Amino acid sequence: MTSSYLLERAWVDGAVHTNVLVEIDGGRFTRVETDREAEPAPDVELLPGLTLPGLANDHSHAFHRALRGRTQRERGTFWTWRDQMYDVADRLDPESYLALARAAYREMVAAGYTSVSEFHYLHHQPAGMPYDEPNAMGDALREAARQAGIRITLLDTCYVSSGFGAPPEGVQRRYSDGDADAWAARAGIGPAAIHSVRAVPRDQLATFHGRSPLHVHLSEQAAENEACLAAYGVTPTRLLHEADLLGPDTTVVHATHLTDDDIELLGTTGTRVCITPTTERDLADGIGPARRLHDAGCPISVGSDSHAVVDPFEELRALEMDERLATRERGHWTAGELLDIGAGGPIEVGARADLVTLDTSSPRTAGTGADEQTVAFAATAADVVQVVADGRVVFTRGDEVEIGRELDRAIRAVWA
Ligand SMILES: [Zn+2]
Repeated sequence: MTSSYLLERAWVDGAVHTNVLVEIDGGRFTRVETDREAEPAPDVELLPGLTLPGLANDHSHAFHRALRGRTQRERGTFWTWRDQMYDVADRLDPESYLALARAAYREMVAAGYTSVSEFHYLHHQPAGMPYDEPNAMGDALREAARQAGIRITLLDTCYVSSGFGAPPEGVQRRYSDGDADAWAARAGIGPAAIHSVRAVPRDQLATFHGRSPLHVHLSEQAAENEACLAAYGVTPTRLLHEADLLGPDTTVVHATHLTDDDIELLGTTGTRVCITPTTERDLADGIGPARRLHDAGCPISVGSDSHAVVDPFEELRALEMDERLATRERGHWTAGELLDIGAGGPIEVGARADLVTLDTSSPRTAGTGADEQTVAFAATAADVVQVVADGRVVFTRGDEVEIGRELDRAIRAVWA
């Protein structure tokens, strides 16, 4: 079925254009024309505001949404946060996981995310027994994404060690298949993730050759670097490099605490880097060298990770603002660069038909230019008025009331 929109303003080809006519068929753009002057045909729907490509959430653990407002309280560290996160993990089954993830994904869609890379490691029953259907938890995530209208890349994640060879303990037994070969037998072919260099021993890393995409948490904590140096005598980045796992099909997530040598290895191999600024600030992780990594040759993406915040505009803005705080200098990224980092793909013929439309006269965005500066320095998820994914309308303003209620029900059920 063909549908057509006339976009008042839209980000096309690296600039904001007016009167952009788009036609969509089979979930893809079949026509994109900027600066149209002719009257649109009667069946063309007018979309006022500023329309962007769909935004990509490149790192998510859907169930962490149940922690918002609970783990932020008082003091603690990444490691005490992890204990609270494990408490949620221990409560979920395929049915409650589906309900929670569906609500979390609907919140993402409402914020302008049209795709999500789900880093999925909660595989088994409490105590570690596989479900009768061994991928029941992953299937629940796929179904949740389908129902929410967001495209998912399910990164089946290998986690077989509590840390550098130590066996899994407690709820970690729900994550572990025993070893990487058993993980591969269950996970099958396709996208994958290595939880971290602490969770998969060096002698099992060869299992992941050829996986695309392959994601891995990298150097989020200085403690991981120290333990890796103690165990193997190299940094986590060099360990992955020596295992021949860096390159354009690999995304390292966080990359917060890196040496100059690490940055060069990631850059020269063209490894992708996903930064999750709102999670990193929540966990007091530190500020990763995003601009240096970009300049070294790493494509950059962002993700909402722990979902302390689900707002792509906030993540993108933080790339610039965090570097300002770290360096006491401004202007590390242009607004256009930030928008391109956030975009899942272009608005162009042949691309997936994803459109995120912002209100340009809200209390936040009014008077800010209705252009890429609005995106980088003013807009929030609350300014999204409509989202189209694969040519289908998946969110319109007003849906957020029901999404909030659905989240409330799902999270209450987890903690009940
Ligand atoms: Zn993560």
